[in-house]
Amino acid sequence: MLKEFLLLRISIRGEITFDYSTTMDEDDWGMDCQCGSKSCRGRIRDFKYLPPDIQKKYLDLGIVPEYISKNFQKEFAVKEKLAHPHQ
Ligand SMILES: [Zn+2]
Repeated sequence: MLKEFLLLRISIRGEITFDYSTTMDEDDWGMDCQCGSKSCRGRIRDFKYLPPDIQKKYLDLGIVPEYISKNFQKEFAVKEKLAHPHQ
């Protein structure tokens, strides 16, 4: 069930990268990223520190483990309800 946890990208050089932040809920820990992606954020930190649009994308893809996603699905549901109160 690897696809539930990792967003994988395999380059033609054989390197494997994934967004560590999808599995992180560590608070004080981070590291510099060497992935070389054009969309690289430069620093790897917890999922909760990702920009909201990226959090939403990863949640929609279903790749965020439950121990992290359970805190966020609720939050997005509330925000969408506030944005569309009559739905
Ligand atoms: Zn990176």
